[in-house]
Amino acid sequence: MDRIDPKLLAGAEVRYANTHLFIDGAWCEGSGGRTLPVVNPATGEQIATVARAEIADLDRALAASDKGFRQWRKVGAFDRYKILRKAADLMRERAEGIGRLMTMEQGKPLVEAKLEIMAGADTIDWFAEEGRRAYGRVIPSRADNVMQLVIREPVGPVAAFTPWNFPVNQIVRKLSAALTTGCSIIIKAPEETPASPAQLVQAFVDAGVPAGVVQLVYGVPSEISEYLIKSPIIRKITFTGSTPVGKQLAALAGAHMKRVTMELGGHAPAIVFDDADVPRAAKLLAGAKYRNAGQVCVSPTRFLVQEKVLDEFTEHFIAASRALKVGNGLEASTTMGPLANPRRSAAMEKLVDDALAKGAKVVTGGSRIGDKGNFFEPTVLTGVSRETNIMNDEPFGPISPIVAFKTFDEVATEANRLPWGLASYAYTTSLKTAGAISSAIESGMVSINHHGLALPETPFGGVKDSGYGSEGGSEAIDSYLNFKFVTQMM
Ligand code: NAD
Repeated sequence: MDRIDPKLLAGAEVRYANTHLFIDGAWCEGSGGRTLPVVNPATGEQIATVARAEIADLDRALAASDKGFRQWRKVGAFDRYKILRKAADLMRERAEGIGRLMTMEQGKPLVEAKLEIMAGADTIDWFAEEGRRAYGRVIPSRADNVMQLVIREPVGPVAAFTPWNFPVNQIVRKLSAALTTGCSIIIKAPEETPASPAQLVQAFVDAGVPAGVVQLVYGVPSEISEYLIKSPIIRKITFTGSTPVGKQLAALAGAHMKRVTMELGGHAPAIVFDDADVPRAAKLLAGAKYRNAGQVCVSPTRFLVQEKVLDEFTEHFIAASRALKVGNGLEASTTMGPLANPRRSAAMEKLVDDALAKGAKVVTGGSRIGDKGNFFEPTVLTGVSRETNIMNDEPFGPISPIVAFKTFDEVATEANRLPWGLASYAYTTSLKTAGAISSAIESGMVSINHHGLALPETPFGGVKDSGYGSEGGSEAIDSYLNFKFVTQMM
């Protein structure tokens, strides 16, 4: 990375710079000297480049991770904790500058970017603490002179693959879990949003993480994942991204018997029963839906509303959608930024066209905004049939289909109709309905009457095609640990 003065990161003066690879404690070019462009999604202009790793660079990263793991696993849990806590504090100090870099490369409003950095710091803190409590067990033995121990040991060097929607937070969960348990890690971070991940790594380096413990690479994702997953040095794979890519990587990991955590897509049902506080439900769901322009794996994406309150909900939801101010995330008045890349705005147009062709109505939005950057209007569709693509494919953008339902059984069936099971939402004032819907829904996370997902201390993960494993809560560090049984006669 072109070194950015940490003092600048504390303020608004920071300039976007080229990003390099980080291998064995040093920032470096790719050995072939090749780079990839980085484009600001609000302007469509190239703002910098990111170094592209070659196989020789991956070999160096693997060797460094092997060495780094041997050293880091011997560092005591308390010392690891202190380094992680320091990294969290540095992220907080630098949130303004790193947030600006993130907005320039990803598009989200600055306030959301800074929140992501602050939430990331909280995640680092939580994992730092949790690593100190990675307790083993003593199992009562059958003989007087035998001691039986269960010891938890770090799994080894980890390969992590992360996407562009939360450039820092998709990494921070994997990086913190790996480091707190004594693992080393190679991060293949998103090429489209490289600078804020580089600053995350810099914070860990400045906090005292030794050379070789953390590597950061960019390049051609399929080349890098295939090479790293096959390497005998790598002992665990963790991926966040789309289900098709997740299935490919999980299959490759299976062929090489690697531990895997997969955090994949979703298509979250947001169910509003007719006894709900409807204006509040519409406000909270619209807030969750348009955050990060809808590019969130747990975004509410199918709005299933009981007939009696359909009109009332739709009216409030349209008002909330229209109230958004779409623009460049660096402008203080902006509440929704551009989509992160042109693929997403093209996908939004296709989803709207398909829904219209199948009889849906656009009640607000529906089009791109301007011809520079990837701006798309917050869009609400009504009269949407189950056959439309929007009701079957993860939208990953600011389109909200609203669909009526009559009965509990009908909505439970609809909620579980798709192959995913990541997040789900329900609004009701009946305790009985709340209990019944949370047990009927097949998903890894259920949030009722509020938006309460993705805290460091709570499990985060899906079922079915949404993947397996958890990226939050005490469950999250288990997959970075092996259990060793030791029985000893004294
Ligand atoms: P994509 O499926 O090509 O890529 C998704 C992510 O996976 C990217 O970060 C990409 O770099 C990475 N990736 C792709 N192929 C890879 C490989 N062989 N090895 C390692 N990493 C690989 O699509 P995209 O256009 O970037 O995003 C489209 C879809 O991906 C979205 O519609 C959404 O469904 C999903 N997505 C999900 C999340 C999430 O948080 N779960 C984040 C970003 C994208």
